[in-house]
Amino acid sequence: MRIGQMRIDPLIDGETVSPPTACYVNPADWSGYENYLDTTTGVHMNTLGGYLIRYDDRVIVVDTGAGPKPVYPVSSGGFRSALYATGVTPAEVTDVIYSHLHLDHIGWASINGKPFFANATYRVDKRDWDYFVSPDYDMPDWEKAASDPSIDAAAVRLAPVADRMEFFEGDQEVLPGIESVEASGHTPGSSVLRLTSDGEQGMLLGDLVHSQPELVKERWHFFAHLDPVAAMDAVERIRKELADTKMPFGAAHFPGLRWGQLSMKGSELRYDLIPL
Ligand SMILES: [Zn+2]
Repeated sequence: MRIGQMRIDPLIDGETVSPPTACYVNPADWSGYENYLDTTTGVHMNTLGGYLIRYDDRVIVVDTGAGPKPVYPVSSGGFRSALYATGVTPAEVTDVIYSHLHLDHIGWASINGKPFFANATYRVDKRDWDYFVSPDYDMPDWEKAASDPSIDAAAVRLAPVADRMEFFEGDQEVLPGIESVEASGHTPGSSVLRLTSDGEQGMLLGDLVHSQPELVKERWHFFAHLDPVAAMDAVERIRKELADTKMPFGAAHFPGLRWGQLSMKGSELRYDLIPL
């Protein structure tokens, strides 16, 4: 994908799969959207990983997958190979930006107690840092079940990079051409990134949504939202901007980390994949 001078590549670490309605508290009606389920098995696949953004002398990774030692039902471990496949080594990465600090986004922050990206500055919304890295953080059952907390907990995984963290909060410029957009709800400091280069714009949605119908239909309640009302309000706000501008966007878990676009079709929102 290109946004002006920015080149953006997916970095796929792996996936999780679940029955289509399992991730939603309200009954999620997938009719008309079955094409976004796996066509062979009918499961709802969430790709795990991140994105590589290159422009000027910046080499930026947005989110770092679930890590090299997955616990079922997470399957992951491909992130490092995906990075090398782009021609970039971990030492060349200048910045790591987190959409939020759930364990399926911070897996390759460190490895064997050392920063995985040896020369990078790591960046996250301060509210997520305060929440997930606090000694009071109590992992919910879904995080415990899908991890080894002794290595995957945010306080453990991020300890080796704590002294190189820089914080932003809400709507703010994070780096030239990259702004965080307030999207708290999924987690206290959940962020969407708006990318701008040479007059073109795109967005990385992080965990604003976990499936395409969640973006275009009314208020699907994803089970892991910490503040569901705020999270669903953020979806409504941001999808309006996406549809009004037809800005291309990627999400943290859409299958294959493909980019798409929103538009209005009559009174309904329509999602289209951007051709490769
Ligand atoms: Zn996630």
